[in-house]
Amino acid sequence: MAVRLGIPRLCVTDHQDFDYPPQYNIDFTFPTDLYFTKLAALREEYRGRIAVFTGVELGLRTHLARQLTEYANGWPFDYVIGSIHLVGDRDPYYPDFFQGRSEEEAYREYFTCTLENVKLHLDAFDALGHLDYAVRYGPCRNKYYSYEKYRDIIDEILKILAEHGKALECNTSGLRSGLGHTNPHPDIIRRFVQLGGEMITIGSDAHSPEQLGYGFQTLKDMLSGCGVSYYTEFHSRKPVFYPL
Ligand SMILES: [Zn+2]
Repeated sequence: MAVRLGIPRLCVTDHQDFDYPPQYNIDFTFPTDLYFTKLAALREEYRGRIAVFTGVELGLRTHLARQLTEYANGWPFDYVIGSIHLVGDRDPYYPDFFQGRSEEEAYREYFTCTLENVKLHLDAFDALGHLDYAVRYGPCRNKYYSYEKYRDIIDEILKILAEHGKALECNTSGLRSGLGHTNPHPDIIRRFVQLGGEMITIGSDAHSPEQLGYGFQTLKDMLSGCGVSYYTEFHSRKPVFYPL
């Protein structure tokens, strides 16, 4: 699919969520050795048509910080996204995360948990994944959501990322799912740039081939409007810059 779309380079970033709570009955992990073997075979098969890179989307959790840091650096990944899919043992994807409290309280808890995880995993990840992930799943989604409302915590997260040379991952899943904006929201991208953030990575958060590269033209226009002129890829965990 990626070859047909004319995509020159592709990085696969499968979910690796260790210790995912048993109540959800899903295994979000993969066998890393097999993953590298398969991707190496694909890289050979498609050589000359598309460059294939090996990445991972690591589910960050405070009690796993040491294990995740060792894991991320113990395998030859090109690119590591650090994402917060769990606050304590609850995933905002499921309604129980929002039950019994205001949506604002729930979002605030998500951002606070993100801040805590970013601080603990600075040696583990290259880019922070979908910073406002929880907003996709709130009862009113983004109706009452704005960057301004959570500015105090979000700014702190962005400053740490910028100071430590970390990237912000921006993906188009929100455009695909009718949220109407990328994750994170363009206001967050704009603020990141203002605070000296230099690296934005892009993705479609594709969970099936048809979703690959979805909304990339809109993404490009949005990023230009936020003052971004280059996007970043990671090859062997080193940033490489490309004009939008
Ligand atoms: Zn994710």
